[in-house]
Amino acid sequence: MTEEFLYFDNNATTAPAPEVRAAMTDALTHLYGNPSSGHRLGQRSAFAVAQARRQLARCINALPAELIFTSGGTEASNLAIFGLTQAQPQKRHLITSSVEHDAVNQPLQQLQTQGYEVTRLAVNGDGAFDLSQLQAALRPDSLLVSLMLANNETGILLPVAEAARLCREMGVLIHTDAVQAIGKIPVDVQELGVDLLSLSAHKFHGPKGCGALYVRAGVILHSQMLGANQERGLRAGTENVPGIVGLGMAVELVSAHLPAAQNRMTQLGQRLESALIQLVSDGRIIGRQVPRLPNTCLLQLPRTATEELLIALSEHGVCVSTGSACHSGALTPSGVLQAMGLDDPDYGGALRISWSRYTTMEEVDRLLQILPVAMNKIQSPV
Ligand code: PLP
Repeated sequence: MTEEFLYFDNNATTAPAPEVRAAMTDALTHLYGNPSSGHRLGQRSAFAVAQARRQLARCINALPAELIFTSGGTEASNLAIFGLTQAQPQKRHLITSSVEHDAVNQPLQQLQTQGYEVTRLAVNGDGAFDLSQLQAALRPDSLLVSLMLANNETGILLPVAEAARLCREMGVLIHTDAVQAIGKIPVDVQELGVDLLSLSAHKFHGPKGCGALYVRAGVILHSQMLGANQERGLRAGTENVPGIVGLGMAVELVSAHLPAAQNRMTQLGQRLESALIQLVSDGRIIGRQVPRLPNTCLLQLPRTATEELLIALSEHGVCVSTGSACHSGALTPSGVLQAMGLDDPDYGGALRISWSRYTTMEEVDRLLQILPVAMNKIQSPV
């Protein structure tokens, strides 16, 4: 029996593409050799890992040797932050934004307990920050700026390329958490000018538990995983061959379909958001006027218990999220909305609707039919 879902939670995770499932099944079946083994079976696995590395390098305009496969976005950002601070312990100032994911926030908080100074750039109600703030924050002892490319809750894009230019002038390294950006907008490490970039396969129709860190040639990191010499000594442990093969296929699909996928997602978003504004006249779409991902809508609803709405929608088979999936279940106000100054008490919370290149217009229309029914059902002012 298969369950039918109307899946609008693609920023939490995506369904693996059929081609990804096929490539991974094949890898599980035939590529069970250890890539470090000298025999032919092992070398087949090593070849598959090398091919995925080339596919990823092509997709983000990096060199294959600049990529470290990890268990996902969280590990990639931990490796970037801890790996760099351990490699250059003399510089003890770090800069970030106030809307980062915990995968960046938590490592930085831990470093603060070890005496590091962390400057968090404030954002305005549009999720943007003034580059002059960054300019003022950069100092001779600044080691790293970590800025996400696209926010997971709002989809708002941060000015990473502009920030990277300022960093280069000051000789400060820059990392970007691009986990939400890949597959939705073009991501080119040369155009961005970043030194480190984190990504995660399950956000672009690849498998969970597999991601990568781009490390610009010449940037030295300390490994966070000690053991054998895989991934140039930067990530010990036998490679997740099926996961890496799945990531390779997922980025191959991104490279092949991005412009069309972007257009499609934009059209779905235009239809959805114009209808939402009619439907919930006192609701607000966060960051409506600023550059955003083409697949994300964060809808703030007045006097609505969004956790209850989520459950009511779920009873109709609709999957959405209230803010970040990592925080759903915890009835705390979204840190991102707080940072944007949009956590006023008249607004109960926000519903995050996120679609993908596989979402259809018919699914958007079904969501638009179900939403008012679910809203009527809860009728529970906060
Ligand atoms: N960074 C952002 C912006 C995310 O949205 C997520 C996942 O929700 C992560 C990092 C963590 O990635 P992963 O689940 O691969 O560890």
